[in-house]
Amino acid sequence: MDIRPDQIISKLNERLENGELQRWLVNTWNAQRNAIKYDEIEEMLWIRDVRGNKLAEWQNDYAKWVEKAYQPEVLLAEAYIGKMLAERGLEVAEQDYLLAWASEHTGRLITRLTETQRQAVKNIIAYGIENELNVDEISRYIRPVIGLNRLQEKWVEAYADTLREQGFSEYRITQLVSRRASYYHRQRAMNIARTELSYIYQRGQLEAIKSLTLPNMPLYGKTILKIWSSASDYRVCARCEQLDGRVVELMEDFKAEGRHEIYAPAPPLHPCCRCAIIYRIEGLRK
Ligand SMILES: [Zn+2]
Repeated sequence: MDIRPDQIISKLNERLENGELQRWLVNTWNAQRNAIKYDEIEEMLWIRDVRGNKLAEWQNDYAKWVEKAYQPEVLLAEAYIGKMLAERGLEVAEQDYLLAWASEHTGRLITRLTETQRQAVKNIIAYGIENELNVDEISRYIRPVIGLNRLQEKWVEAYADTLREQGFSEYRITQLVSRRASYYHRQRAMNIARTELSYIYQRGQLEAIKSLTLPNMPLYGKTILKIWSSASDYRVCARCEQLDGRVVELMEDFKAEGRHEIYAPAPPLHPCCRCAIIYRIEGLRK
């Protein structure tokens, strides 16, 4: 019997369109931007970094996002995957097979989001000092980049440079930069949501199927193969294209070659990866 990824993918896309995960992220960044005080910015300029309690605050905001937006997605996915497998006569014993994985994963995610934010702010501080901007001007730059990653922050810098060369006033530049930054925020929120929904659904399915192979469960002792299935269009990256059609056993990792090797038990292989898995259960009829 093959379990094809179509249902999982369409549910994932439905949740992406629903937009709950990304909306919460954008709201979080907006709140962080408004919460940052002038004397905090002065201090950041002084130490050229973000102080510890601001980082703790951001970390706390992301933890709230996990609790309010991410965990409900995990629960929805669990229920959906459970129902989908039950329709094939594969009843998952309990619903919380994903929770252990999710708490570990989101812990790392929170740390990474906070650190990315710190790096972007550090960069813009260095940029402000280099361009001899005053505290007011720098603070108008810092606020919009809260929530952007380093690369996007660099784009903001490059954009500001271009505007400066064209002779725009600092006031006008910060206005335009702020507008550009909001566009990047929406784009980044979308990318994070796509990647994280892929984690939730792909890992959810993997963990559910693994739980079905335990003693007394319907797939105990069965050979199960995983077949990598890329989205097969022009947007597929070289690594994923190379993995397309690759077959490994259930507990094995896929190995993607490249500048360095990446091992993954299931997609996503990289941010915004749209790959999926076909599960082939040997000796089970459709
Ligand atoms: Zn991929």
